[in-house]
Formats: sequence, structure tokens, C-alpha cells
Amino acid sequence: MYKVGITGGIGSGKTTVCKVFEVLGIPVFYADTVAKEIIVEDALLIEGIKSTFGKESYFEDGKLNNKHIAAIVFNNEMELAKLNALVHPAVFRAFDHWEKQIDPAVPYTLKEAALLFESGSYKMCDTNILVTAPLEVKLNRVMLRDNVSAEQVKARMDKQFNDEKKKEMANHFIINDEEHGIIEQVLALHKKFLEVSKR
Ligand code: ATP
Repeated sequence: MYKVGITGGIGSGKTTVCKVFEVLGIPVFYADTVAKEIIVEDALLIEGIKSTFGKESYFEDGKLNNKHIAAIVFNNEMELAKLNALVHPAVFRAFDHWEKQIDPAVPYTLKEAALLFESGSYKMCDTNILVTAPLEVKLNRVMLRDNVSAEQVKARMDKQFNDEKKKEMANHFIINDEEHGIIEQVLALHKKFLEVSKR
């Protein structure tokens, strides 16, 4: 099945854009949400995390010990890379499983991932979309949505590739600022994907 990856910096509005595709009947795989689910469900992943970061990575009731993991990977790129090397393949497995259950009549699917480019996940998609918005707009949106400070949002932003690097890797763009309407842009891309996915 034709696969479209979709990404964008924090607060760019990628989830909002995905909701529009869903209205058009396109199934969306939300990689970041799935990652949070499988980290406490996927036996292989749990085993990998325990042997890499210690048994105390999980509480007795099976919940993730977020504080323990965060203390190890926070500001430590090598440890973070180890965590990603465990989580990303597990998300790829979950995507394959999810895709097998999709109605074959569906023209294409969307895979939404904040780290689509950073994780290498874009290579498994036929094409991709980058959602962009000006920095100030992104900051204000996330501050409002999550009730956090500009500094906290900036710290999260620093952990992702910047937009310039992402733009070089992107195939399609949706500008989600305060001037461009996203619905028209989604419809134009949807039309394009319907055509190419038929081939
Ligand atoms: P994250 O990476 O943090 O998950 P995201 O890129 O998925 O962010 P969204 O959650 O879709 O971004 O959007 C961030 C916030 O901005 C949300 O509260 C959303 O409702 C709002 N928002 C997004 N796009 C628009 C828009 N075009 N007009 C008004 N509000 C918007």
C-alpha cells in the first residue's frame, strides 16, 4: 500500500493536518502515540529496555519508570541513541502490523511521526509531507496547548532537526501559518496521492 510519512516541528500542526486527512477517509498511524503504548506492551521492547537500562526501568505493575529513563537519557546523546535504537524498530513492527489490518481498498495511509527524518522512518514511506509554521506561531501554540513556558518549548525544539534540514529531505509541504488554509492544501495533496497510488 502507498505510504505517506508526515512530520513537522513541535507545534507545526501535523496532528491537526492528519485529522483533515482522516476526514477524507485516510487511515493515520500516530507513531508517537503508538511508541508510548508499546513501551509497556511489546515484550521484546520491554526486555531490551530492561537489559539496557536496568530492571528498575519498569515498576512492579508494569508501568514505565519515566523518571529513571529520563535521568539516564537526558542530555546524554549516546544513551538516547540506545533508547531510540530499541523503540524505533518496535514502532516499525507495530506499523507493519497495523498496515496489514487496513482495508486494501484504502488508497494510501499516513504515518505521522515527530522524528520521521531523524529515525530514518521516512525511508520506508513512498513520499512525505513536512508541515511548517513560523517559530513564533509554533511557540505560542504549544505554550497554549500544554500550558508551558517558551523556554520549555524551545528545549523540546532543540532535540529535533531544524526546519532547514527537514526541508531538504521533504517531498511535499503544508504551510500551517496564520495566512494559509490547511484544508485547501490537504485536498490538493490528497488528489495527487490518489493519482500516484493508483499506478
Ligand atoms: P506536537 O509535535 O507537539 O505533537 P503538532 O505538530 O502535532 O505538535 P498540533 O498538536 O496539531 O501540532 O497543533 C498544536 C496546537 O496548535 C494545537 O492546540 C492545535 O489545535 C493548534 N493548531 C494547529 N494548527 C492550527 C491552525 N491552523 N489554526 C489554529 N490552531 C492550530
